[in-house]
Amino acid sequence: MSCLVCDRLVSIADPLDTSVVVVYADLTWVAYRGAPPDSIMVAARRHTSWYWDLDESEQSSLGTVLTLLAETVRSISHSSPVYCVGLGENSRHFHVLLMQRDKQLADEIHDSIRLSTARLLQR
Ligand SMILES: [Zn+2]
Repeated sequence: MSCLVCDRLVSIADPLDTSVVVVYADLTWVAYRGAPPDSIMVAARRHTSWYWDLDESEQSSLGTVLTLLAETVRSISHSSPVYCVGLGENSRHFHVLLMQRDKQLADEIHDSIRLSTARLLQR
């Protein structure tokens, strides 16, 4: 089965492929410019099925990497807070997007949470 994130990491490793701008890399994590302006995608180098599949090294380094990169997004976008979004519908390889706050998105998320909470309380 193909994995979109693994495919992206393969293309990042190709020195002839300049379609992806890597902003951070270590033995565990790779971060590259995301689609929204001033956003950064952070992905585990190893294919993982999601948070619950991270090994001890990935778990212990995730906070440090997210803190460093969230500060980078904050400084280049002049935005606070910085969202950390991990959806996983298209690929179950652990990856999250760090992006500046967007008022419309924030309103939609808050509305969705209110609706979900109301539905759960009616059960
Ligand atoms: Zn993968």
